[in-house]
Amino acid sequence: MQLDNYYSSQQWQKIQNFAANKPSPFLVVDLDRVEYKYQELQQSFPMANIFYAVKANPSTEIIQRLDKLDSSFDIASIYELDRVLACGISPDRISFGNTIKKAADVKYAYDKGIRLFVTDAQADLEQIAQHAPNSRVFVRVLVESGTTSDWPLSRKFGCDTQMAIDLMVKAEQLGLQPYGVSFHVGSQQNDVTVWRTALNTVKDVFDTLEHQHGIQLELINAGGGFPARYLADIDSIQDYANRIQCYIDECFDRKVTLFLEPGRSLVGDAGVLVSEIVLIANKSEQDEKRWIYTDVGVFNGLIETLGEMIKYPIYTPKMHNDAPKSNVVLAGPTCDSTDIMYEKIAYPLPQDLVMGDRLYWLSTGAYTTSYASVEFNGYPPLKTFYLE
Ligand SMILES: *Cc1c(COP(=O)(O)O)cnc(C)c1O
Repeated sequence: MQLDNYYSSQQWQKIQNFAANKPSPFLVVDLDRVEYKYQELQQSFPMANIFYAVKANPSTEIIQRLDKLDSSFDIASIYELDRVLACGISPDRISFGNTIKKAADVKYAYDKGIRLFVTDAQADLEQIAQHAPNSRVFVRVLVESGTTSDWPLSRKFGCDTQMAIDLMVKAEQLGLQPYGVSFHVGSQQNDVTVWRTALNTVKDVFDTLEHQHGIQLELINAGGGFPARYLADIDSIQDYANRIQCYIDECFDRKVTLFLEPGRSLVGDAGVLVSEIVLIANKSEQDEKRWIYTDVGVFNGLIETLGEMIKYPIYTPKMHNDAPKSNVVLAGPTCDSTDIMYEKIAYPLPQDLVMGDRLYWLSTGAYTTSYASVEFNGYPPLKTFYLE
Protein backbone atom coordinates (compact mmCIF):
# COMPACT_ATOMS: atom_id res chain seq x y z
CA MET A 1 0.00 0.00 0.00
CA GLN A 2 1.61 3.20 -1.20
CA LEU A 3 -0.26 6.32 -0.17
CA ASP A 4 0.99 8.26 -3.19
CA ASN A 5 -0.75 5.78 -5.49
CA TYR A 6 -3.97 7.24 -4.13
CA TYR A 7 -3.40 10.86 -3.18
CA SER A 8 -0.96 13.60 -4.03
CA SER A 9 0.67 14.99 -0.91
CA GLN A 10 -1.40 18.14 -1.37
CA GLN A 11 -4.69 16.23 -1.48
CA TRP A 12 -3.70 14.15 1.51
CA GLN A 13 -2.69 17.25 3.45
CA LYS A 14 -6.10 18.77 2.82
CA ILE A 15 -7.83 15.70 4.25
CA GLN A 16 -5.40 15.42 7.16
CA ASN A 17 -5.79 19.05 8.15
CA PHE A 18 -9.51 18.64 8.24
CA ALA A 19 -9.50 15.31 10.08
CA ALA A 20 -6.89 16.11 12.69
CA ASN A 21 -8.95 16.98 15.73
CA LYS A 22 -12.31 15.41 14.96
CA PRO A 23 -13.44 12.45 17.04
CA SER A 24 -13.38 9.15 15.17
CA PRO A 25 -15.11 7.62 13.27
CA PHE A 26 -16.19 9.69 10.29
CA LEU A 27 -15.98 9.84 6.52
CA VAL A 28 -14.43 12.75 4.64
CA VAL A 29 -15.37 13.23 1.00
CA ASP A 30 -13.35 15.56 -1.19
CA LEU A 31 -15.79 17.09 -3.69
CA ASP A 32 -12.98 18.32 -5.95
CA ARG A 33 -12.07 14.72 -6.51
CA VAL A 34 -15.64 13.83 -7.44
CA GLU A 35 -15.52 16.68 -9.93
CA TYR A 36 -12.21 15.44 -11.31
CA LYS A 37 -13.56 11.91 -11.78
CA TYR A 38 -16.67 13.23 -13.50
CA GLN A 39 -14.66 15.33 -15.91
CA GLU A 40 -12.24 12.51 -16.58
CA LEU A 41 -15.16 10.24 -17.48
CA GLN A 42 -16.85 12.86 -19.64
CA GLN A 43 -13.63 13.60 -21.51
CA SER A 44 -13.01 9.89 -22.04
CA PHE A 45 -16.56 9.40 -23.35
CA PRO A 46 -17.33 12.69 -25.10
CA MET A 47 -20.51 11.27 -26.69
CA ALA A 48 -22.02 9.94 -23.47
CA ASN A 49 -24.71 11.40 -21.25
CA ILE A 50 -23.66 10.70 -17.70
CA PHE A 51 -26.36 9.74 -15.19
CA TYR A 52 -24.84 9.60 -11.72
CA ALA A 53 -26.18 6.53 -9.86
CA VAL A 54 -27.33 8.36 -6.75
CA LYS A 55 -27.37 5.26 -4.58
CA ALA A 56 -23.56 5.16 -4.49
CA ASN A 57 -23.61 8.24 -2.27
CA PRO A 58 -26.89 10.16 -2.08
CA SER A 59 -25.61 13.27 -0.29
CA THR A 60 -26.90 16.64 -1.43
CA GLU A 61 -23.32 17.94 -1.51
CA ILE A 62 -22.38 15.45 -4.21
CA ILE A 63 -25.63 15.94 -6.14
CA GLN A 64 -25.10 19.70 -6.12
CA ARG A 65 -21.50 19.48 -7.25
CA LEU A 66 -22.48 17.15 -10.11
CA ASP A 67 -25.39 19.40 -10.99
CA LYS A 68 -22.92 22.23 -11.60
CA LEU A 69 -21.14 19.97 -14.08
CA ASP A 70 -24.41 19.27 -15.93
CA SER A 71 -24.65 15.67 -14.87
CA SER A 72 -27.92 13.79 -15.10
CA PHE A 73 -29.10 11.43 -12.37
CA ASP A 74 -30.16 7.80 -12.11
CA ILE A 75 -32.51 7.26 -9.19
CA ALA A 76 -33.56 4.03 -7.51
CA SER A 77 -36.58 5.18 -5.50
CA ILE A 78 -39.00 8.05 -4.98
CA TYR A 79 -36.90 9.09 -1.99
CA GLU A 80 -33.82 9.60 -4.12
CA LEU A 81 -36.09 11.35 -6.61
CA ASP A 82 -37.25 13.81 -3.96
CA ARG A 83 -33.67 14.46 -2.90
CA VAL A 84 -32.52 15.17 -6.46
CA LEU A 85 -35.53 17.37 -7.22
CA ALA A 86 -34.98 19.26 -3.97
CA CYS A 87 -31.53 20.17 -5.30
CA GLY A 88 -33.30 21.97 -8.13
CA ILE A 89 -32.57 19.46 -10.85
CA SER A 90 -35.17 19.34 -13.58
CA PRO A 91 -36.99 16.05 -14.18
CA ASP A 92 -35.74 15.74 -17.73
CA ARG A 93 -32.29 15.04 -16.29
CA ILE A 94 -33.52 12.14 -14.17
CA SER A 95 -33.96 8.49 -15.08
CA PHE A 96 -35.95 6.05 -12.94
CA GLY A 97 -33.41 3.23 -13.12
CA ASN A 98 -34.84 0.63 -10.75
CA THR A 99 -36.77 -2.23 -12.33
CA ILE A 100 -38.48 -2.86 -9.00
CA LYS A 101 -41.04 -0.20 -8.18
CA LYS A 102 -44.61 0.05 -6.99
CA ALA A 103 -47.37 1.37 -9.21
CA ALA A 104 -47.74 4.23 -6.74
CA ASP A 105 -44.04 5.09 -7.19
CA VAL A 106 -44.41 5.21 -10.97
CA LYS A 107 -47.37 7.53 -10.59
CA TYR A 108 -45.52 9.71 -8.09
CA ALA A 109 -42.52 10.00 -10.41
CA TYR A 110 -44.72 10.75 -13.41
CA ASP A 111 -46.55 13.47 -11.49
CA LYS A 112 -43.15 15.00 -10.66
CA GLY A 113 -42.30 15.08 -14.37
CA ILE A 114 -40.26 11.91 -14.86
CA ARG A 115 -40.66 10.52 -18.38
CA LEU A 116 -37.85 7.96 -18.55
CA PHE A 117 -38.17 4.53 -16.95
CA VAL A 118 -36.37 1.22 -17.05
CA THR A 119 -38.22 -2.08 -17.11
CA ASP A 120 -37.47 -5.79 -17.28
CA ALA A 121 -40.86 -7.41 -16.69
CA GLN A 122 -44.29 -7.33 -18.24
CA ALA A 123 -46.16 -6.46 -15.04
CA ASP A 124 -43.84 -3.53 -14.43
CA LEU A 125 -44.24 -2.36 -18.02
CA GLU A 126 -48.03 -2.41 -17.67
CA GLN A 127 -47.79 -0.28 -14.54
CA ILE A 128 -45.62 2.21 -16.38
CA ALA A 129 -48.09 2.31 -19.29
CA GLN A 130 -50.94 2.93 -16.90
CA HIS A 131 -49.34 5.52 -14.61
CA ALA A 132 -46.74 7.15 -16.84
CA PRO A 133 -48.43 7.20 -20.26
CA ASN A 134 -46.35 8.00 -23.32
CA SER A 135 -43.07 7.88 -21.36
CA ARG A 136 -39.83 6.57 -22.77
CA VAL A 137 -38.91 3.10 -21.61
CA PHE A 138 -35.71 1.14 -21.95
CA VAL A 139 -35.37 -2.53 -21.21
CA ARG A 140 -32.67 -4.03 -19.06
CA VAL A 141 -31.08 -7.21 -20.33
CA LEU A 142 -29.38 -9.86 -18.26
CA VAL A 143 -25.65 -10.02 -18.69
CA GLU A 144 -23.06 -12.24 -17.13
CA SER A 145 -20.77 -10.24 -14.88
CA GLY A 146 -18.53 -13.30 -14.60
CA THR A 147 -15.96 -13.62 -11.89
CA THR A 148 -14.26 -10.37 -12.85
CA SER A 149 -16.68 -8.07 -11.05
CA ASP A 150 -16.00 -7.59 -7.34
CA TRP A 151 -19.62 -6.81 -6.50
CA PRO A 152 -21.90 -8.59 -9.03
CA LEU A 153 -25.33 -7.25 -9.95
CA SER A 154 -26.46 -10.05 -12.20
CA ARG A 155 -29.38 -12.49 -11.81
CA LYS A 156 -31.62 -10.17 -9.88
CA PHE A 157 -32.01 -7.62 -12.68
CA GLY A 158 -32.67 -7.86 -16.38
CA CYS A 159 -34.36 -10.32 -18.69
CA ASP A 160 -33.21 -12.44 -21.61
CA THR A 161 -32.95 -11.25 -25.18
CA GLN A 162 -36.28 -12.60 -26.39
CA MET A 163 -38.17 -11.15 -23.46
CA ALA A 164 -36.46 -7.80 -23.99
CA ILE A 165 -37.68 -7.79 -27.57
CA ASP A 166 -41.19 -8.77 -26.54
CA LEU A 167 -41.28 -6.03 -23.91
CA MET A 168 -40.31 -3.33 -26.37
CA VAL A 169 -42.98 -4.51 -28.82
CA LYS A 170 -45.49 -4.51 -26.01
CA ALA A 171 -44.36 -1.06 -24.87
CA GLU A 172 -45.28 0.35 -28.24
CA GLN A 173 -48.67 -1.37 -28.18
CA LEU A 174 -49.31 0.15 -24.75
CA GLY A 175 -48.62 3.67 -25.98
CA LEU A 176 -45.13 4.02 -24.52
CA GLN A 177 -42.02 4.99 -26.46
CA PRO A 178 -39.59 2.08 -26.82
CA TYR A 179 -36.30 3.89 -26.36
CA GLY A 180 -33.44 1.44 -25.90
CA VAL A 181 -31.63 -1.20 -23.93
CA SER A 182 -29.64 -1.08 -20.70
CA PHE A 183 -27.37 -3.46 -18.85
CA HIS A 184 -25.03 -3.47 -15.88
CA VAL A 185 -21.90 -5.59 -16.13
CA GLY A 186 -21.46 -5.82 -12.35
CA SER A 187 -19.95 -3.26 -10.04
CA GLN A 188 -16.16 -2.85 -9.88
CA GLN A 189 -15.85 -4.69 -13.18
CA ASN A 190 -12.17 -5.38 -13.81
CA ASP A 191 -12.57 -6.89 -17.26
CA VAL A 192 -13.65 -4.47 -19.96
CA THR A 193 -14.36 -7.27 -22.46
CA VAL A 194 -17.54 -8.02 -20.52
CA TRP A 195 -19.00 -4.88 -22.14
CA ARG A 196 -18.41 -6.43 -25.56
CA THR A 197 -20.58 -9.46 -24.73
CA ALA A 198 -23.26 -7.19 -23.31
CA LEU A 199 -23.20 -4.89 -26.36
CA ASN A 200 -23.65 -7.89 -28.63
CA THR A 201 -26.82 -8.73 -26.74
CA VAL A 202 -27.98 -5.13 -27.14
CA LYS A 203 -27.29 -5.36 -30.86
CA ASP A 204 -29.46 -8.50 -31.12
CA VAL A 205 -32.35 -6.65 -29.51
CA PHE A 206 -31.87 -3.61 -31.76
CA ASP A 207 -31.62 -5.70 -34.95
CA THR A 208 -34.60 -7.94 -34.29
CA LEU A 209 -36.81 -5.02 -33.35
CA GLU A 210 -35.80 -3.07 -36.42
CA HIS A 211 -36.01 -5.88 -38.96
CA GLN A 212 -38.99 -7.81 -37.63
CA HIS A 213 -41.07 -5.18 -35.91
CA GLY A 214 -40.14 -1.90 -37.52
CA ILE A 215 -39.13 -0.41 -34.17
CA GLN A 216 -35.96 1.65 -34.23
CA LEU A 217 -34.32 1.94 -30.83
CA GLU A 218 -31.96 4.76 -30.04
CA LEU A 219 -30.49 4.33 -26.57
CA ILE A 220 -27.68 2.15 -25.32
CA ASN A 221 -27.40 2.48 -21.56
CA ALA A 222 -24.07 0.87 -20.73
CA GLY A 223 -24.62 1.12 -16.99
CA GLY A 224 -22.07 1.55 -14.24
CA GLY A 225 -19.39 -0.93 -13.30
CA PHE A 226 -16.37 1.31 -13.85
CA PRO A 227 -13.84 0.72 -11.11
CA ALA A 228 -12.63 2.76 -8.18
CA ARG A 229 -9.02 2.35 -7.05
CA TYR A 230 -8.94 -0.20 -4.23
CA LEU A 231 -5.95 -2.40 -3.34
CA ALA A 232 -5.49 -3.86 -6.79
CA ASP A 233 -4.34 -1.89 -9.82
CA ILE A 234 -7.01 -0.93 -12.33
CA ASP A 235 -6.99 0.16 -15.95
CA SER A 236 -7.60 3.83 -16.59
CA ILE A 237 -11.03 5.14 -17.51
CA GLN A 238 -9.56 6.21 -20.83
CA ASP A 239 -8.67 2.56 -21.52
CA TYR A 240 -12.19 1.47 -20.67
CA ALA A 241 -13.62 4.21 -22.87
CA ASN A 242 -11.42 3.41 -25.87
CA ARG A 243 -12.33 -0.25 -25.76
CA ILE A 244 -16.04 0.30 -25.20
CA GLN A 245 -16.21 2.84 -28.00
CA CYS A 246 -14.61 0.24 -30.30
CA TYR A 247 -17.17 -2.36 -29.29
CA ILE A 248 -20.00 0.08 -29.99
CA ASP A 249 -18.55 0.93 -33.40
CA GLU A 250 -18.24 -2.78 -34.17
CA CYS A 251 -21.87 -3.45 -33.34
CA PHE A 252 -23.70 -0.37 -34.59
CA ASP A 253 -23.30 1.32 -37.93
CA ARG A 254 -25.83 4.05 -37.27
CA LYS A 255 -26.00 6.82 -34.73
CA VAL A 256 -27.00 5.76 -31.23
CA THR A 257 -27.39 7.62 -27.96
CA LEU A 258 -25.09 6.47 -25.17
CA PHE A 259 -25.94 6.75 -21.48
CA LEU A 260 -23.61 5.80 -18.65
CA GLU A 261 -24.67 5.32 -15.03
CA PRO A 262 -21.50 5.47 -12.96
CA GLY A 263 -21.68 5.37 -9.19
CA ARG A 264 -18.59 3.84 -7.64
CA SER A 265 -16.08 5.25 -10.12
CA LEU A 266 -17.20 8.85 -9.54
CA VAL A 267 -17.32 8.94 -5.77
CA GLY A 268 -15.34 5.94 -4.47
CA ASP A 269 -11.87 7.44 -4.60
CA ALA A 270 -13.08 10.70 -3.08
CA GLY A 271 -13.73 9.29 0.38
CA VAL A 272 -11.50 8.54 3.35
CA LEU A 273 -13.01 6.75 6.33
CA VAL A 274 -11.18 7.75 9.48
CA SER A 275 -11.21 5.14 12.23
CA GLU A 276 -9.48 4.38 15.48
CA ILE A 277 -8.18 1.13 16.90
CA VAL A 278 -10.34 0.13 19.87
CA LEU A 279 -8.62 -3.11 20.82
CA ILE A 280 -5.67 -5.25 19.80
CA ALA A 281 -5.84 -8.85 20.98
CA ASN A 282 -4.65 -12.40 20.41
CA LYS A 283 -6.89 -15.42 20.72
CA SER A 284 -4.40 -17.47 22.76
CA GLU A 285 -0.89 -17.19 24.14
CA GLN A 286 0.38 -19.32 21.25
CA ASP A 287 -1.57 -17.59 18.52
CA GLU A 288 0.48 -14.75 17.15
CA LYS A 289 -2.16 -13.43 14.82
CA ARG A 290 -3.30 -10.02 15.98
CA TRP A 291 -6.96 -9.12 15.93
CA ILE A 292 -7.42 -5.42 15.42
CA TYR A 293 -10.87 -4.12 16.33
CA THR A 294 -11.73 -0.68 15.00
CA ASP A 295 -14.58 1.73 15.67
CA VAL A 296 -15.87 1.15 12.11
CA GLY A 297 -17.11 -2.13 10.77
CA VAL A 298 -19.49 -3.97 8.50
CA PHE A 299 -22.48 -2.18 10.04
CA ASN A 300 -21.15 1.34 10.03
CA GLY A 301 -19.73 1.88 6.60
CA LEU A 302 -17.85 -1.21 5.50
CA ILE A 303 -20.62 -3.54 4.37
CA GLU A 304 -18.91 -4.15 1.04
CA THR A 305 -16.19 -6.05 2.89
CA LEU A 306 -18.75 -8.87 3.28
CA GLY A 307 -17.20 -11.96 1.74
CA GLU A 308 -14.01 -9.84 1.65
CA MET A 309 -15.18 -8.67 -1.76
CA ILE A 310 -14.11 -5.04 -1.75
CA LYS A 311 -10.54 -4.69 -0.54
CA TYR A 312 -9.99 -1.18 0.76
CA PRO A 313 -6.48 0.14 1.05
CA ILE A 314 -5.72 0.91 4.69
CA TYR A 315 -3.20 3.54 5.66
CA THR A 316 -1.50 4.37 8.93
CA PRO A 317 1.27 6.95 9.33
CA LYS A 318 3.32 4.20 11.02
CA MET A 319 3.72 2.59 7.63
CA HIS A 320 6.49 5.09 6.94
CA ASN A 321 8.62 3.72 9.74
CA ASP A 322 10.85 0.73 9.24
CA ALA A 323 8.73 -1.14 11.77
CA PRO A 324 8.16 -4.74 10.75
CA LYS A 325 4.68 -5.65 9.56
CA SER A 326 2.57 -8.73 10.04
CA ASN A 327 -0.85 -9.84 8.87
CA VAL A 328 -3.81 -8.95 11.02
CA VAL A 329 -7.49 -9.77 11.26
CA LEU A 330 -9.59 -6.62 11.04
CA ALA A 331 -12.96 -6.53 12.77
CA GLY A 332 -15.63 -4.00 13.68
CA PRO A 333 -16.95 -2.91 17.07
CA THR A 334 -20.39 -4.54 17.22
CA CYS A 335 -21.54 -7.67 19.05
CA ASP A 336 -22.07 -9.62 15.84
CA SER A 337 -19.58 -12.15 14.57
CA THR A 338 -20.25 -11.26 10.92
CA ASP A 339 -18.69 -7.91 11.79
CA ILE A 340 -15.26 -8.99 10.53
CA MET A 341 -13.87 -7.13 7.56
CA TYR A 342 -10.77 -9.11 6.63
CA GLU A 343 -9.67 -12.46 7.94
CA LYS A 344 -8.68 -14.60 4.96
CA ILE A 345 -6.89 -12.08 2.81
CA ALA A 346 -3.56 -10.76 3.95
CA TYR A 347 -3.49 -7.30 5.50
CA PRO A 348 0.03 -6.58 6.67
CA LEU A 349 0.06 -3.72 9.18
CA PRO A 350 2.91 -2.38 11.33
CA GLN A 351 3.57 -4.33 14.50
CA ASP A 352 3.93 -1.20 16.59
CA LEU A 353 0.30 -0.13 16.19
CA VAL A 354 -1.33 0.56 19.52
CA MET A 355 -4.87 1.12 20.72
CA GLY A 356 -6.01 4.64 19.90
CA ASP A 357 -4.01 4.83 16.67
CA ARG A 358 -5.90 5.94 13.61
CA LEU A 359 -6.47 3.76 10.57
CA TYR A 360 -7.50 5.45 7.32
CA TRP A 361 -9.67 3.44 4.95
CA LEU A 362 -9.03 4.87 1.51
CA SER A 363 -11.44 4.92 -1.44
CA THR A 364 -14.48 4.71 0.80
CA GLY A 365 -16.64 7.37 -0.87
CA ALA A 366 -19.05 4.88 -2.48
CA TYR A 367 -21.51 2.51 -0.84
CA THR A 368 -20.46 3.38 2.69
CA THR A 369 -22.61 6.14 4.23
CA SER A 370 -25.82 5.00 2.59
CA TYR A 371 -25.14 1.41 3.58
CA ALA A 372 -24.45 2.08 7.26
CA SER A 373 -26.98 0.83 9.81
CA VAL A 374 -28.92 3.32 11.88
CA GLU A 375 -28.69 2.09 15.44
CA PHE A 376 -27.26 -1.38 15.46
CA ASN A 377 -25.64 -1.75 18.90
CA GLY A 378 -26.61 1.86 19.39
CA TYR A 379 -24.06 3.23 16.95
CA PRO A 380 -25.29 6.33 15.13
CA PRO A 381 -25.20 6.64 11.34
CA LEU A 382 -21.77 7.28 9.91
CA LYS A 383 -20.87 10.94 10.26
CA THR A 384 -19.78 12.44 6.97
CA PHE A 385 -18.07 15.68 6.02
CA TYR A 386 -17.78 17.11 2.53
CA LEU A 387 -14.80 19.26 1.62
CA GLU A 388 -15.56 21.95 -0.92
C1 LIG B 1 -25.90 0.46 -8.82
C2 LIG B 1 -26.25 0.84 -10.20
C3 LIG B 1 -25.37 1.64 -10.94
C4 LIG B 1 -24.02 2.08 -10.43
O1 LIG B 1 -23.10 1.06 -10.53
P1 LIG B 1 -21.55 1.28 -10.17
O2 LIG B 1 -20.97 -0.05 -10.35
O3 LIG B 1 -21.49 1.80 -8.79
O4 LIG B 1 -21.01 2.27 -11.14
C5 LIG B 1 -25.77 2.01 -12.19
N1 LIG B 1 -26.95 1.64 -12.72
C6 LIG B 1 -27.82 0.88 -12.03
C7 LIG B 1 -29.12 0.53 -12.65
C8 LIG B 1 -27.49 0.44 -10.76
O5 LIG B 1 -28.35 -0.32 -10.09
